[in-house]
Amino acid sequence: MSQWPPIAEIAAQVKAKKLSAVDMVKQALKTIAEKSEYQAIISTLPDQALARAKAIDSSTDGGRLAGVPFIAKDNFLVYGPDTTAASNILKGFKAPYQATVIEKLESEGAICVAKANLDAFAHGASTENSDFFTTKNPHDKTRVPGGSSGGSAAAVILDMVPFALGTDTGGSTRQPASFVGCVGYKPTYGLMSRSGIVAMASSTDTVGTLAKSVEDAALVIDVMAGKDHLDATTIDREPDGYDISCQLDQGLRGKKFAVIKEYMGEGLASEVREVIDGVVKKLESAGAQVSEISLPSSPLSLAVYYIICPAEVSSNLSRYDGQRYGYSDESAKDLQESYDLSRGHGFGKENKRRIMIGTYVLSSGYYDAYYKKAQTVRTKLINEFNSAFESYDFLVGPVAPTTAFKIGANAADPLSMYLSDVMTVAANLVGIPAISIPAGKAGDLPVGVQLMARQRADRDLLGVSRSLEGILK
Ligand code: GLN
Repeated sequence: MSQWPPIAEIAAQVKAKKLSAVDMVKQALKTIAEKSEYQAIISTLPDQALARAKAIDSSTDGGRLAGVPFIAKDNFLVYGPDTTAASNILKGFKAPYQATVIEKLESEGAICVAKANLDAFAHGASTENSDFFTTKNPHDKTRVPGGSSGGSAAAVILDMVPFALGTDTGGSTRQPASFVGCVGYKPTYGLMSRSGIVAMASSTDTVGTLAKSVEDAALVIDVMAGKDHLDATTIDREPDGYDISCQLDQGLRGKKFAVIKEYMGEGLASEVREVIDGVVKKLESAGAQVSEISLPSSPLSLAVYYIICPAEVSSNLSRYDGQRYGYSDESAKDLQESYDLSRGHGFGKENKRRIMIGTYVLSSGYYDAYYKKAQTVRTKLINEFNSAFESYDFLVGPVAPTTAFKIGANAADPLSMYLSDVMTVAANLVGIPAISIPAGKAGDLPVGVQLMARQRADRDLLGVSRSLEGILK
């Protein structure tokens, strides 16, 4: 049982003065302290959070998220503690402004209480690439919580806060949600501003929401979504917004789902397959039509992602030169040496691997063979998904090929780590919304089911996800 009521209820009670925002923040900070052994958290903001809570308690209208504590992945700019992205190179870096989505959440009364652990710069699928420590899975401390938003996902299941923010560039919100058993939402590309979030791969970066229920996630998404003049790639909100709490449950009857054939093949662990097969049966009993579809280019999405993502990473990480942000090596004798030593000591192995792959695929001799070809296949993938959505409302399948793996199991082999993303990266390359919903367990470990919808169909996806969540409970 969660110690947190639904988010809308917390806000209503805080506004009615039946609950106090100060108590909510104290409760969150107490739980964070009690569960420190899971190493989900990089820093806390007690003074700031309590000051904000006091102001909300003495105001007449605290907002739609009045007094609701939350945790942000440590790649969101938030005033107060360092924003590190779990990288040594950003140690000592203070946010000069806040991420747009943080501003929006705060303007509705939400209170950031802590910053969560991640793979450094969000490069990874387990939090083992954090330069600081590895977060433990709340269900089994010998296993990873997934990544890169593993700290945020674990924080939600450890009941530290009612919701947490992650980012999803290639699956980093959905895969940890599946590994720990919470809801993880990746919006349509551009639905939320990326301003003030440490950039990874700009053409696939999105803001992820991690929560206990679809309805909680939808309310938070509704507060964050919409155009922002600080991010030219943002899109308009849907007129009805994304808060589905007042919308009647439209059920699943008559909705058209398709299982992606390529995701159910070789490489999928049998215990995950069983859970997904079970979801399909339940969808059918609820009156949904479920077919199978082949998306022939989907097996190529991993290769495409691991060309385009490092290409964009290599460009985005070039700004960390030891002069402008965070760490600067003091022993350097001149500027060139300062670049070399600061980047050499500041970046971790995986960051360096991506910088090298990225600069390689963008270099004049290899651009056509790798980067350009990857963009061509990306377009093919977009066309295949778009044509699937002409016949089906939603695509359904696993989130990841396995349940949470053991700490250390994939850490030494980057390729086996990358395989954890094989079912999530397509949604990022195509720019469509996707969600992971808790679907069952394999032994003691949670398994999520993934739903995807056409671009900008976020409201429909949230609505159908709530219906599905209802029959999976
Ligand atoms: N695991 C993927 C990667 O390492 C996804 C990362 C992400 O979404 N931030 O690139």
